[in-house]
Order: sequence, then C-alpha cells, then structure tokens
Amino acid sequence: MSERKVLLVTGGSRGIGASIARLAAKAGYRVAVNFVSDTEAAAAVVREIEAGDGEAFAIRADIGEEKDILAMFATVEERFGRLDALVNNAGVVGRRSRLDEMDAARLQRMVAVNTVGTMLCTREAVRRMSTRHGGKGGVIVNISSMAAQLGSPSLYVDYAASKGAVDTFTYGLALEVAAEGIRVNGVRPGIIETDIHASRGEPDWPRDMTSLLPMQRAGQPDEVARAVLYLLSDDASYVTGSILNVSGGR
Ligand code: NAP
Repeated sequence: MSERKVLLVTGGSRGIGASIARLAAKAGYRVAVNFVSDTEAAAAVVREIEAGDGEAFAIRADIGEEKDILAMFATVEERFGRLDALVNNAGVVGRRSRLDEMDAARLQRMVAVNTVGTMLCTREAVRRMSTRHGGKGGVIVNISSMAAQLGSPSLYVDYAASKGAVDTFTYGLALEVAAEGIRVNGVRPGIIETDIHASRGEPDWPRDMTSLLPMQRAGQPDEVARAVLYLLSDDASYVTGSILNVSGGR
C-alpha cells in the first residue's frame, strides 16, 4: 500500500473544491475528486493534477443520495486502499427567496445535500478512520458558510440553516471522536468568486457586493483552500472542533 495520504473532496470539480483538490495534490495527497454532473470539469481537475505528477481520479456521486455515497467510499478504498482525509465541500444553494415562497422539494434537497450528505460522508469516513473501528485516524473538514451566522434573510434562510446545522455537527462530532484519532474542523467562507452564484441566477453577486465587504473585494477559491489545507495538515495537530471564518472579515 502506498504511503501517500489519500483525500476525498466532495464537489471537487469546480470552485472551492477544485482549488482544494489541486492544492492537496501539490501537498502530496492522492485525491479522489467527487462531482455530480460536470464530468468534463472533474476530468480537467484530474488532468491538471496528473500533469503536475500528482495522482487523482474523478468519481461521480450525488451527495444527496446515500447509495451513491456508499459506492463512492467503496471505490476510493478500491482505488487507493486507504482514506486519511475528507473535505465535505459539495453544496447547493437556491434562488433568492423568502421562506413563504419556498416549496418542500427545495427545502428537502438543501438539507439532503448540504447537511445529511455531509453527515453521511462523515459517517463513512469515521467508520474507516476511527481507532475504535481499527482505523489509523484521520482529518475531516466541513465547508460551512458565513450564512450560518448571518442567517441570510430574504435571500436563502434554508441554505443558511443547512450550514448552521453543519457547524453544530462539526463541533459535536469533533468531541465525539477526539480520542479516536480524528480531528474535525470547519471553514466558513464569505463571498467567494465561483459559479455557485450563477447557479442561483445572480452571477455578478461577488462584484455587486464589493462595496459592502470590509476588504472591498470578494475572496478567491484558493484563499479558502489554503485554510482547508492548514486544517488538514499536522500544523493543526491540536486543532479540533474549530470553525475558521475565511470571509475577509464579514
Ligand atoms: P460551485 O462552484 O457551485 O461548485 C459546486 C461543486 O459541488 C461542484 O463540484 C459540483 O459538482 C458539486 N456538487 C453540487 N451538488 C452536488 C451533489 N449533490 N453531489 C456531489 N457534488 C455536488 O460551489 P462553490 O462556490 O465552490 O462552493 C463550494 C462549497 O462552499 C459549498 O458547500 C458552498 O455552500 C460553500 N460556500 C461557497 C461560498 C461562495 O461564495 N462561493 C460561500 C460560502 C460557502 P458538478 O461540477 O458536477 O456540478
């Protein structure tokens, strides 16, 4: 079995997840790059990693579906033979709405992907990493959002609440597995320049918000990825149950 550590990053085909995958490969991880629909984008991330002498493969799984998650973890084990790190990055958002305009399908999908999906992926990782189950330990980083603290009224309170649950989960689980060799931390990005804003019909949101942001600019995916790489690394060996804001101050 290779000595090189293995990272699974969900939603690794674009945006913040793709930056995490690239930086992790540069740091020496073998990387499983999860995606749900954009096969070409995931393949491009893998090609880029391989061009830099890294090792990666793309794996399709809908993080809102337990059967896909189980198959994904089985494939990662088959391909790489171990799992050292998980970044729960896959996430969805919805169009600007008030709660009284939202239907049940939207609310259920939001929670299924952002919250339950994060919990199920983490469960699978704990089953493999925990010393309680014969594992060698590991590290988990959950990507939350500043929306969890701001609440996002008249924008997407459902998304904000789905991430608030991730924050509470991060803190509680960190304590649950702290003596089992697993560290669990979170990152709350602020407004970051990715396609997620176009996915909810407001592609110019990062630019439009500039004057309201303390640093007068939105963040870049690599600025979030560098924080994640720190939390994954041994430099953060005594850090667990922490959630780091990467938001330019707000
Ligand atoms: P993005 O550019 O829209 O990329 C989303 C990624 O997640 C893509 O790789 C996408 O795969 C994948 N994905 C979406 N739904 C999935 C599902 N059901 N199963 C598996 N993969 C799925 O998003 P981003 O801006 O990089 O956001 C990444 C994370 O950061 C999310 O959790 C988001 O909530 C959080 N965040 C983002 C911001 C921001 O301003 N960008 C701020 C705060 C928090 P495909 O390519 O196959 O579609």
